[in-house]
Amino acid sequence: MVTDEAIQRTSRISGFHKLAVEERIERIARFANLADEHRRQLAVPSNIDTHLADHMIENLVTTIAIPVGIATNMRVDGRDVLVPMATEESSVVAAVGNAARQCYDAGGFTTSMSGTEMIAQIQLLDVPDPERARLLILERRDEIERICNACDPMLVGLGGGFRALEVRLVDTPGGRMVITHIIVDTRDAMGANAVNSMAERLAPDIAAWTGGRTLLRILSNLADRRVVRARATWTAEAIGGESVRDAMIAAYQFADNDPYRAATHNKGIMNGISAVVLATGNDTRAVESGAHAFAARTGRYRSLTSWEVTSEGNLSGAIELPLAVGLVGGAVKIHPTARALLAILQVETAGELARIIAAVGLAQNFGAMKALATEGIQRGHMSLHAQNLAFAAGAAGPEVAEVARRIVELRTINEGAARAALAELRERA
Ligand code: NAD
Repeated sequence: MVTDEAIQRTSRISGFHKLAVEERIERIARFANLADEHRRQLAVPSNIDTHLADHMIENLVTTIAIPVGIATNMRVDGRDVLVPMATEESSVVAAVGNAARQCYDAGGFTTSMSGTEMIAQIQLLDVPDPERARLLILERRDEIERICNACDPMLVGLGGGFRALEVRLVDTPGGRMVITHIIVDTRDAMGANAVNSMAERLAPDIAAWTGGRTLLRILSNLADRRVVRARATWTAEAIGGESVRDAMIAAYQFADNDPYRAATHNKGIMNGISAVVLATGNDTRAVESGAHAFAARTGRYRSLTSWEVTSEGNLSGAIELPLAVGLVGGAVKIHPTARALLAILQVETAGELARIIAAVGLAQNFGAMKALATEGIQRGHMSLHAQNLAFAAGAAGPEVAEVARRIVELRTINEGAARAALAELRERA
């Protein structure tokens, strides 16, 4: 016999998407036996309209607010910018502002970009003569250009569209595959949808010309034709002397030569980068996969930044990574908070946005390396983290700062210590 309880406990909910948002909350509340406080919390509106959010993704039940802070002191290509960063992690925003302050007088960040071209891949299988197939495709460059551009007249009108064609032979355990790359300038769009449509449209022709069978038709997130670079110099004096500089160089060399360290080094960089990507409504996963694939392009996973001592004895840092971000398309144009945050940046092109993001990544890396190579990450990080622990322990109002201060003083920064400090504080009150 199927009981009411069994119905409530099943994840097989047909027509869940057709329910109103409140009904969906009801259903999952019953499934998970949610306490009233949790059920009420899910229904709290955020700064995105529920109706809009319900159209952005499937099966919406709620939205989750992420704090947005502003990184100050940033000067990029001679222009002062205030940078919104969406992150749940303490110290990230402060680290960027501090790093930027220490290179502001030396000119801030200088950036450049390789272009705004995206790559779409078309996979071709079961080709009897792959070398010949490769040439057959390359010979049709002009026809391919026409087919691709006809998919997106708007993009072409804005100066974008098809730019180049590449065909690669990839050996796999399943045989040799013929992989066509169409390279498209997507201008101010991130461009995934734009190039995916072109790849899908082109695939049947490629199959017909070669006698093979096309399978996947999708962009590559290794957007290495959309590489952004930023550099900055920190005077030895501004960062606390030559010993700090040299310790930071040693920290960088460790990361660039050891993947275990490089993963964490690059995670720190992405703390900055993903926070701006998210704040502006862009696709964090696209940027992250592109960054990590780029970091491994030599066959070894390495640092996304490089650091050296200048002839004047100062510290010079540079970052280089693909950054496929847009000002149109996806959530960027729809999410009202993303639009408001983008307006703070005062950028007119996706390239300008990408350059600022690269500068933030470099600043973040400076901040993390300096902290690690000097006082250690915990001191700065933990005083902010201590406040989160105080909240988690149930502190409210002025108790938060008091509990945080106490556990930092005790150098025991964990939730147990926060609870004990709170209990002690309340006993004394
Ligand atoms: P989109 O298709 O919504 O917008 C791009 C289109 O906007 C262009 O094709 C063009 O016709 C038009 N446009 C208007 N003004 C423009 C301008 N100034 N510059 C360029 N184009 C302009 O979005 P998109 O950027 O093609 O795709 C981005 C979305 O695709 C994101 O939401 C992303 O998450 C998603 N996505 C990502 C992946 C991936 O990264 N692997 C895969 C699929 C989808």
